[in-house]
Amino acid sequence: MSAEIIDGKAISAIERQRVTDETAAFTQETGVIPHLAAVLVGDDPASQVYVRNKERACERCGLKSTLHRLPSETSQSELESLVAQLNNASDVHGILVQLPLPSHLDETPVLDAILPAKDVDGFHPENVGLMLQGRPRFLPCTPHGVMKMLEHHGVETSGKHAVVIGRSDIVGKPMGALLIQKGADATVTICHSRTIDIAQVTRQADILIAAVGRPEFVTGDMIRPGAVVIDVGINRVDDRLVGDVDFQAASKVASAITPVPGGVGPMTIAMLLRNTLTAAQHSVS
Ligand code: NAP
Repeated sequence: MSAEIIDGKAISAIERQRVTDETAAFTQETGVIPHLAAVLVGDDPASQVYVRNKERACERCGLKSTLHRLPSETSQSELESLVAQLNNASDVHGILVQLPLPSHLDETPVLDAILPAKDVDGFHPENVGLMLQGRPRFLPCTPHGVMKMLEHHGVETSGKHAVVIGRSDIVGKPMGALLIQKGADATVTICHSRTIDIAQVTRQADILIAAVGRPEFVTGDMIRPGAVVIDVGINRVDDRLVGDVDFQAASKVASAITPVPGGVGPMTIAMLLRNTLTAAQHSVS
């Protein structure tokens, strides 16, 4: 079998165009330009690339973006006071704190300090709770992007067995939560580092989602023939970007697969733009 490619670049272009059109209509009607404020602490090269890509995507879609760069030695209270300032800025609709933060800073209180109405990453406990209850304010960008890819590619989730590898708060857990919502209706298994005989579990998946953070962790023999494979992983190996799935081997077994790069990554950005527009719409309603 040679898997079809689920093209994240092409699907995200469609989603971004939707955001562009809706933003133009919204701005024309209200005079408000949706505005994302990004906060970058330190000089981690990967984070700088991610933030730049998010800024560029905002500009192309008619959203405003502002980058707040803080030095690596920024203190917890300095960072939290910037968040407070952005919470109070009436022209800022979305706040994004680029992760990971330098190791001396504690992520949780910073993310908790973001006003839930401006939490366009969807990480605030209030937004996580709303999402779990099936009445989301913002869906977390990466899992939402995966759901959109499945939808665009015509992948049926209802009644299917979806296996997610990874249980992080930003990918694995919300991914499972979206797949079990009414409407998506998958049966979900979540694996993690304590899962015993993981290959035996992944081989049962109709839809296999890898969010492990380990290059080419999922090998061809871990995939059920005909499964749909979504690779969330972004790993830097030498100068290459590699997913969590062994793409060459997996594409011989799967029916459809996302590449890295050009898979889930662009979808995450498109969903961030969507959330920023939603935040701006809520701010005037
Ligand atoms: P994370 O917080 O490090 O979580 C990794 C998860 O994988 C954990 O739950 C961990 O289990 C599990 N795991 C690690 N080793 C394992 C093993 N040997 N067997 C089974 N499970 C194992 O990472 P993350 O933030 O979820 O990100 C995952 C990957 O997605 C990374 O490569 C990241 O760069 C990428 N990512 C991509 C996007 C995008 O836009 N495409 C967005 C976010 C993240 P334990 O909980 O037991 O430790």
